[in-house]
Amino acid sequence: MSSAGTVLIQGGTVVTSKRSFVADVRIEGETIIEVGPSLSDSTADQRIDASGLLILPGGVDPHVHLSRRPSLPKEACSGDDFLSGSKGALAGGVTTVGEIASPEADEGVLDTIDRVESDVRSKSLVDVFVHPVLESASRKLEQISKLPAREQPSLKVFLMNPSLAENPAGLKDAVRRAADAGVTVLFHCEALSELSAARDALLKQEMTSLRYLPESRPTSAEVRATEQAIAFCRETGATGYIVHISCAEALGPCAAARVEGLPIHTETRPEFLLLSSAHHRGEDAKLHVIIPPLREDADREALWRALVDRSIDLVATDDAAFWSKAEKLAAPDSFEALRMGISGLELLRPLLFSEGVVKGRISVERFVEATAAAAARIFGLYPKKGTIAVGSDADLVLWDPKETRTIAASDLFSRTGFTVYDGWHVTGWPRMTLRRGEIVYREGEVLASPGSGILIPRRLPSTEDE
Ligand SMILES: [Zn+2]
Repeated sequence: MSSAGTVLIQGGTVVTSKRSFVADVRIEGETIIEVGPSLSDSTADQRIDASGLLILPGGVDPHVHLSRRPSLPKEACSGDDFLSGSKGALAGGVTTVGEIASPEADEGVLDTIDRVESDVRSKSLVDVFVHPVLESASRKLEQISKLPAREQPSLKVFLMNPSLAENPAGLKDAVRRAADAGVTVLFHCEALSELSAARDALLKQEMTSLRYLPESRPTSAEVRATEQAIAFCRETGATGYIVHISCAEALGPCAAARVEGLPIHTETRPEFLLLSSAHHRGEDAKLHVIIPPLREDADREALWRALVDRSIDLVATDDAAFWSKAEKLAAPDSFEALRMGISGLELLRPLLFSEGVVKGRISVERFVEATAAAAARIFGLYPKKGTIAVGSDADLVLWDPKETRTIAASDLFSRTGFTVYDGWHVTGWPRMTLRRGEIVYREGEVLASPGSGILIPRRLPSTEDE
């Protein structure tokens, strides 16, 4: 019965989004075939001792940017790509990512997926699903209804994109096509009208320094666009997913929409839980440029509460590390010339475990839900990804809940050469990561080869339980 490639992980504590229990996990090939206490080890080809460790499902981060954004200058952006970004992901216990892929030239959403798939095949170490970006509401919209057959049923819109904001009828048509096909729509929520008004007011007073980044992208713009996104979903029947909620006021419309029965999913990012707008006025302001900007401590506290009560479903990184430290620092001190984005994949789970679980804000099961299971459910990957069960992909992380680290940019796989968490002390760190049964990271070393990650097929989202 035993064949080459059976692995037995022994003596750890298995954690899913529902419960934690001491168990062994048996893997054959790429798949988990048995989970239970004290499994027989006579047939195992390889044994891994997990005593004292947690066994977590591989992380699923549904919001990253590892393929190059066509609008960025090719010669200037020496940050991360699928290779370095996915190395960091594996080192941080994330085995699947959702790539937000912008179109090149006149690509439709299917063309974009094809192009990104070839990038994944040559470079990625993690499994990938793709949310193609709809940049124009008048171009190749017929491709939207074909996304489910391509097994990638989601797309992304940036509501402040002028070609969408100035064509609301076209945008609604696109969202309706998505709704009719069962395609989930991810919304970046900032309203162009509010951004323009804020910018004009600041320009009039010659207040263009980066220190005014928060004022240039006010919470009112986020709230307004969140309400627009929800209205589109209400009118068309689309399932909506609100990315990187940054402020307390944006939570209200989402909660109200759910009470109404609308399928609205919600995400925040680690920075909105852990950092506040003072960083936009500090010494390292240029390194902290992200969109939306950092908000106030009251917003952070509201987002933590929302994570606890599940009005926020999950935490994703928005990893978008296009610019190196030197390139970020060379930017002018102006919100008119933003070099936005930071790396996040390697530290997502260590930060959320330490600040959330160790500090008693969330349970370890909720941590697993917010960093793996929820995204897998929402995007049609569950239970293949996001849990530890018979038949699931053997994406597993052996996690030392006691290990303490001081974060240093020089220890990370990101090519950007900096992290906004430099010097933070964390408790809890991955020891080993398996992706579809293969040991891809162990004790500081990434072992997977480029292109071993795959474009992972998805079904339409289900509510299937464990
Ligand atoms: Zn993003």
